Amino acid sequence: YESKKIQNHALIFQGSMQEEYLKHVKIEHELRKAIAHNELFMVYQPQIDNAGYIHGVEALVRWKSGTLGIVPPDQFIPVAEASGQMVKIGYFIISRTLKEMKEVQRALGTTFQTSINISVRQFMEAEFFAQLLNALRDSEMNQLSLTIEITENLFIEDIDYIVPLLHAIQKCGIQISMDDFGTGYSSLNMLRRLPIDELKIDKSFIDTIVEDETAQKMVQNIIAIGKNLNMTVLAEGVETKEQRALLTTFGCDRFQGYYFSKPLLKDDLIAFFQKNQNK
Ligand code: C2E
Ligand code: CA
Ligand code: CA
Ligand code: CA
Repeated sequence: YESKKIQNHALIFQGSMQEEYLKHVKIEHELRKAIAHNELFMVYQPQIDNAGYIHGVEALVRWKSGTLGIVPPDQFIPVAEASGQMVKIGYFIISRTLKEMKEVQRALGTTFQTSINISVRQFMEAEFFAQLLNALRDSEMNQLSLTIEITENLFIEDIDYIVPLLHAIQKCGIQISMDDFGTGYSSLNMLRRLPIDELKIDKSFIDTIVEDETAQKMVQNIIAIGKNLNMTVLAEGVETKEQRALLTTFGCDRFQGYYFSKPLLKDDLIAFFQKNQNK
């Protein structure tokens, strides 16, 4: 009986692995046509400061595939990276975002910060820095209003390559944000050595912050670390008034989440600004 049970488990395991593999292959194949077929686009989620003003936006990529429907970025970005498509998609993300945010800033007559996610693979590509500067030049957007979001997992890579590159990026006036802080490969010592402007507290900490005292302590400690290192601290995934109030008492500087706004298409972002700018 036991061995039959184990066999069944093995079969189920194999079956789901096979399914995963087929899905991966299908995504990889369809993704090759996504840019040419205009299936990739960007949405922008507002980031709000302590006084209630819009500080900036985070750009998030979306894929509406003709055959697969909506595929979330968590699913297709790893596939893009594994199949060598991330350089092209990464360039699309940066250039489309800068173009659209330049348009929004023109329409509103104001400037604001724009954050772009950069995956580890993307950051480690030899062309990355030049690509970033080219896209900035083409968009005529001021470098001072661009932020790149990197994750702690970057520290697994060659530190002697990463640290000077981050300094060079920051010297250009581009800000650096540490995304998903506390969920990855963490080294406080590393954090001290890097030129980081902003710490982003991951949504998983915010989710239980109202009822869970441990989560509260973690968040308070993350905010203290950020403050001690002269960084701005932003909480992501803020969904309720209670979460926002608690984060404010803890001294958090900025907020992002459904409580304020879901990620928006360019035109909806303009409308959001017009409604909330002077609040
Ligand atoms: P992330 O960088 O941690 O982005 C935050 C995710 O949380 C986004 O999901 C956002 O839509 C979602 N979110 C924001 N506020 C709330 C909230 O209040 N409640 C809930 N339930 N969710 C909220 P999304 O857009 O599906 O992105 C998932 C991940 O995919 C991102 O996590 C990021 O790691 C990656 N990603 C998205 N866009 C890009 C991109 O353009 N480039 C790269 N390299 N990665 C991207
Ligand atoms: Ca992010
Ligand atoms: Ca996150
Ligand atoms: Ca992330």
